[in-house]
Amino acid sequence: MAEVVAGMNEVEQVRADVEQLATVIGPRHPGLPAALERARDHISSRLSACGLEVRIEAFSGMANVIATVPGRGPGTLLIGAHYDSVPDVVGAPGADDNASGVAALLALAARVTREPLSCSVRIVAFANEEGMRWGRERGGSWHHAGHAPRPDAALILDALGWCDLRPGSQAWPAWWMPWVHGTRGDFLCVQAAWRDRALARRCASAARRAQMPVRGCWWPGQTWQMMGDQESFHHHGVPVITLTDTDRFRNPRFHKPSDRSDTLDYGFLVRAVEAAWLMLPELARRPGGPTAG
Ligand SMILES: [Zn+2]
Repeated sequence: MAEVVAGMNEVEQVRADVEQLATVIGPRHPGLPAALERARDHISSRLSACGLEVRIEAFSGMANVIATVPGRGPGTLLIGAHYDSVPDVVGAPGADDNASGVAALLALAARVTREPLSCSVRIVAFANEEGMRWGRERGGSWHHAGHAPRPDAALILDALGWCDLRPGSQAWPAWWMPWVHGTRGDFLCVQAAWRDRALARRCASAARRAQMPVRGCWWPGQTWQMMGDQESFHHHGVPVITLTDTDRFRNPRFHKPSDRSDTLDYGFLVRAVEAAWLMLPELARRPGGPTAG
């Protein structure tokens, strides 16, 4: 796992990316357009350093950052993470939510560039996921899902840097969930809509080969997980999986000024990258095709 990337191993690299976004740049949302632009510049330069051609997808005065890694065959898998931070809390730097997801996205971009998949991989950093609370059409993912060529599947990375081994550290949105999933916030969560449960189950099995506990969450009628970037692709008929530490249900610093880069568990974050990496062949199996479970 400790592969050397341009002189840094993966742990050092994800930490450097989170620090750049959350500490050096800090809060970044539509009310702070210069900070959003700096974040975009950082993401663009990191993707360029992988040898990728970077494209900016502008919408409503904001922009997504896109780079595509060609595959060995047909099909496209999208991997996305939002790079904005919450706009309605002053001074909230968004380290876990979602500099950690962007750092994982960049780490995966580097891995896929070195070792292409059977299908093409479209890497997208989304603007304004946090703004979707005031209307989903404001989100960069909503714009992308509605305008860009439809990918065959999507993987969303949202909050991947918080781990707490203590019993009672994990909360859940429904009373019965602690009985199923426990109360220790030490696992990676693979979440999906009921519609995509077969794909999610395969992804969770693959992710368990990383050295971390993985729990799969999919059930009919769920709502808390269907917000933000996952919803954008779900609505547009794309099979979509989200990888997360469950943010608000685990991290007491969620959407607060204390969501700082020095509070994250970077060992957990690189294990999440490894888990995502192990999931990619499942997601690249053309979920709509005959191999789908
Ligand atoms: Zn988020």
